[in-house]
Amino acid sequence: MNTLQKPIDISVIAPIYNEEGNIEEFTNRVLKVLNQMALTYELIFINDGSKDQSLLKIFKICEAHENVFFINLSRNFGHQIAVSAGLDHVSGQCTVIIDSDLQDPPELIPTLYKKYKEGNMVVYARRNKRKGESFFKLLSAKLFYRIIRKLTTIDIPLDTGDFRLIDQSVVKYLRLMPEKNKFLRGQIAWLGLQQTAVFYNRDERKVGVTGYPFKKMMRFALDGITGFSEVPLSFVTRLGFIILFISFLVILYAFYSHYFLKVTITGWTSLMVGIMFMGGIQLFCLGIIGEYLSRMNKNSMNRPLYIIEKTNLVSPKENA
Ligand code: UDP
Ligand code: MG
Repeated sequence: MNTLQKPIDISVIAPIYNEEGNIEEFTNRVLKVLNQMALTYELIFINDGSKDQSLLKIFKICEAHENVFFINLSRNFGHQIAVSAGLDHVSGQCTVIIDSDLQDPPELIPTLYKKYKEGNMVVYARRNKRKGESFFKLLSAKLFYRIIRKLTTIDIPLDTGDFRLIDQSVVKYLRLMPEKNKFLRGQIAWLGLQQTAVFYNRDERKVGVTGYPFKKMMRFALDGITGFSEVPLSFVTRLGFIILFISFLVILYAFYSHYFLKVTITGWTSLMVGIMFMGGIQLFCLGIIGEYLSRMNKNSMNRPLYIIEKTNLVSPKENA
């Protein structure tokens, strides 16, 4: 798909969102590793609507290196979509997905590749330690990986992000998955196939701030849960049954107290508590259903997943 004629052994895709301070070092480290591996390669940057000088830096790098390419998305579509855009355009025998903030060390790529050559279709990098992240981020990440494992029947590996190497067949299957709310690590786990882990210590982000603030993290978590679990929906049903049963008992008691005890309950407090409680539960359950519905809505609209503003790839896939 690119200008190189030789078959490509390894493609590396790196999403970029406001990484002007990291791109150069990232490129140098990745290219150094790839050159040492003596393989044919392509490095594709996906600029996800950066608001800083990232794109200009990418242009410069692409001019200097014939096997570095870029896809400039028309706005910020989010990390998962940026990676999906990259996956749609790789042509290597295998592909490495890596963050460009140097939290995922490029020096791990040869180890991932070695495991791949041993016959694994997916080699994911699992975090031993995470340096320099806030207590809140560590706790929420830990909780998230554990909750999603409880809620889903597929085996999503713990403490593993998207940093991984995947075979071209995995790329092909991912392209066949039409969902708009991407949760790549779940989708890859869903595929099954021969998968293995390599452990590493996650570094601090070199420069800049996280592109995953709380709101994005929540949306991502909900995409993971709604995409791979129906437990919340059956929870709503079960909760409905339990509350129905409790209300039935309360009604029985009300009749009993009226006809036999001759006490008619006048309590305003209990009524208020009941109404507030029920109202809360109903809204919560409606919210859960709404989360699923909004995702169905997004999928039924069938809009393209992203829009490419510009690229130096020779035959880019039409905006989708
Ligand atoms: N990123 C992106 N789009 C976004 C947010 C992030 O392409 O909307 C990129 C970012 O440049 C980085 C990777 O995705 O290469 C991971 O993001 P980040 O480091 O901000 O997330 P964190 O490591 O804090 O979870
Ligand atoms: Mg990061």
